This record gives sequence, structure tokens and C-alpha cells, in this order.
Amino acid sequence: MKTGGFLIFTAFWLMMIGVSFYQQVAEDKQYGHKIAYKQAEMFFQHIVLMRQWNGQHGGVYVPVTEQNQPNPYLNVPNRDILTPDGMQLTLINPAYMTRQLAEMERNQSGIRFHITSLKPIRPENKADAWEVTALKAFEKGQDHFNELSAINGQPFYRYMAPLILEQDCLKCHGGDGGKVGDPRGGISVSIPAANIDNFLAERLENLKNSHLLIAATGLVALLFAYWAQSKLNKRLTKAKSHLQLAYLDALTLLPNRRYYDAFLRREWKRATRHHYPLSMIMIDIDFFKAYNDNLGHVEGDQCLRQVARTLRRYFRRSGDLIARYGGEEFCVVAACDSVQIMQLAEILRMAVETMKLPHPDSKVSQFVTISLGVATVIPKGAMECGDLLLHADQALYAAKHSGRNRVAKYQG
Ligand code: GH3
Ligand code: MG
Ligand code: MG
Repeated sequence: MKTGGFLIFTAFWLMMIGVSFYQQVAEDKQYGHKIAYKQAEMFFQHIVLMRQWNGQHGGVYVPVTEQNQPNPYLNVPNRDILTPDGMQLTLINPAYMTRQLAEMERNQSGIRFHITSLKPIRPENKADAWEVTALKAFEKGQDHFNELSAINGQPFYRYMAPLILEQDCLKCHGGDGGKVGDPRGGISVSIPAANIDNFLAERLENLKNSHLLIAATGLVALLFAYWAQSKLNKRLTKAKSHLQLAYLDALTLLPNRRYYDAFLRREWKRATRHHYPLSMIMIDIDFFKAYNDNLGHVEGDQCLRQVARTLRRYFRRSGDLIARYGGEEFCVVAACDSVQIMQLAEILRMAVETMKLPHPDSKVSQFVTISLGVATVIPKGAMECGDLLLHADQALYAAKHSGRNRVAKYQG
């Protein structure tokens, strides 16, 4: 894995963890809201049940105490009675019971519920702004209303549903034309957001920790992969460069004789299999001993490098190769026929000549020149690649003896 790849994977991994985290946080928040509203709805249903119980009994009588005073808004006969043994009892109707329960609940758990209507009998039952909106929605047929809303600046999950007039309710609420089945006010249940938010915060903390752990584990794994890969890469590069050195000529940086031999054997087999011609050029710098003697070995080396650089420009195809054969000799193998190889040889000869590298002691030119021996065969049967080499060498000999700075073809 390269550094760029590692960084991309790391960024991708962190992004995935981030997306997963925020998705789960959003889902949990939604889930928290759902739980809050469900809890409020259950509260509401519970209160309605208690009210039904109370209503079915036509209210219940309880002793009058300092906290439990008669309901001044309850206008029914026998609201207050005296037992034969002198105990004062007062009738608690569903509305009054709801108020008393609401007060107890608020003191104990902070959860508020409020019986209210747009036309309350008791002024304390007047609807607040949010409840008015809900009550108006009920009049349009909505069956419940919920929202996260503030009461005295504190956030609450608020749920409200209408109360439906039943037969028992008509005793008190029948005066204003209401009939059984009509919505008549409602009860709002408000759960402090803090109740749910604390639970959510705890869940959030757990989510954060688990995601951090997963992110860290992934990062460690990525780092390990990166480290292992770069270690492997280093070994591979080292092995490659060793291999390259084994097959490279240090002076000219052309493939060396060892590489050339292996390459030739491989190409020979391939040409034998497919019956196509294989060509070779043996190249030798003319009067190089005299060049060395005249200008010195350092200059001689420089000349070899320059000739090599010029020649290698013509070898880009994977089936063609030029190598340093030894001394001031180079050798070419190419998968082409005798016409093409002759053309290539001539191009190489001209390329060296046009370098115009001064040769003070050549008998054929004032510049460095090369002689080239060319041979081509279609390998088959008992032939060996050494034969091709021999032919090219013989052609080179002919080129030398017919005047140098020329191409000669093997005349088989
Ligand atoms: P011919 O035209 O017949 O090829 O003559 P020649 O002088 O080039 O051939 P000869 O084989 O007599 O001499 C080759 C010379 O190449 C001998 C040696 O000094 C020189 N030579 C071989 N390898 C190197 C090398 O690596 N560096 C340098 N500077 N000279 C080298
Ligand atoms: Mg030679
Ligand atoms: Mg020579």
C-alpha cells in the first residue's frame, strides 16, 4: 500500500465510522422522542381509565381534610355529606381527581399533566398557547398532538389527546349542548426532556466509545497493513535492484552479456515455435584500441557510454534487445526479417557516424564509427542459437575487412 493509498483508505474508514456514528445518533434521538411520546400516551390512557372508573361510580366520596377541600366548581346535589358518625365527606368528580393526581405526579416525578379545554369550568384549567393549538387541531379531527416544546423555558416532550364525552360526563358537561362522543377538552402530558436526554446522553457516550474503539482497531489494522506492505516493498525493491545489477552492464547501463544470452535463448525458442525469423547484429567500434591509446581509457569509457546511449534509442519494442556483448562490442537481437534488420543496422551505423565524435586515429573517418555484421535465420530442427551468433560474427568480420564503417550481411 502506498502512502497515498493508505491516506485514502484511512480517510474512507474514518468517514464511514463518522457517518455510522451520526446516523446512529440521529436514529437514537428519534427513538428517544418516540419513547417519550409513547410514555406520555400511556400516561394519558392511564388517566382516562381512572377517570372512567371515577365517572362510572358517579364520583367518589372522600373525607374533607385541609388538603382535600370540597370542589367549588362541582355543582351537584349531595356534593358534601355527613356520615351518621359525623364525618364530613365531599364528592370528587373525574376532573377534580385528575387535578389532584396531576399535582401529586408533578411533585414526585416532574411529569406534568393538565386537564384543560377551550371553555374551562375552573380557571386553573385554562389552556396554555401550545394546548390551545392542540385543542384546535382536535376540533379539526386530529386524534393526538405531540411536540418538543418549552414550559417556563424548560423543554418538555408534550403529548395531548382529546377527552371524549361519555354518559357520566353529561352530569356536569351536558349543560353546554355536548353529547356522548363529542371531544370535550383534553389532557396534556408533559415529560421533562431531561428525563429522556439523560438516557440519550448515556447512550451517546456508549456509541461514542464503541465507535472510537472500532475506528482505532481499523486504523491499527490499516497501519499494520501499510507497515507490512512497505516492508515488503523495500525488500522487493532491494531484490529488484540486485537482479538489475546482475543483468546490467555498469559502464553503459545496457543489458549485459548474461542477460543477452538468456534473452537470446528465450527468443530463439519462441521463434522456433512460431516459425518466424530471428535476426542479429554484431556491432564493433572501429579502431577503438587506437582511440584508447590516443585519448586514454577515461575518454574511451566515455566514448563507449555515448555510443551505447545513441544505439539504445532505437530499441523500444519488447522483442528487440541491444546489449553490451563485451569490450567495445554490442549485440542486437530482433524478431524481424533480413530486410528489416539490414535497415535497422544501417540506421544504427548512421546514428553513430552522425554523432561526430572525433576519432584522432581512425583510418576510415575523422569520427568514431562502427562496423556491423548482420545475420537472419528461421530457427528449426537441429539449429542452435550459437549458429546465429557465429553467422553475425562472420558478417562482422566481413564488414571489418571490406573497409569498416559499414554493414555486412552473412552470406550463407
Ligand atoms: P577494430 O577496428 O578491428 O575493431 O580494431 P579495434 O582496435 O577496435 O579492436 P581491438 O580488439 O584490437 O581493440 C579493442 C579495444 O577496446 C581494446 C581495449 O583497449 C578496448 N576496450 C575494451 N573494453 C574497454 C572498456 O571497457 N573501456 C575502454 N576504455 N576500452 C576498452
Ligand atoms: Mg572488438
Ligand atoms: Mg573494434
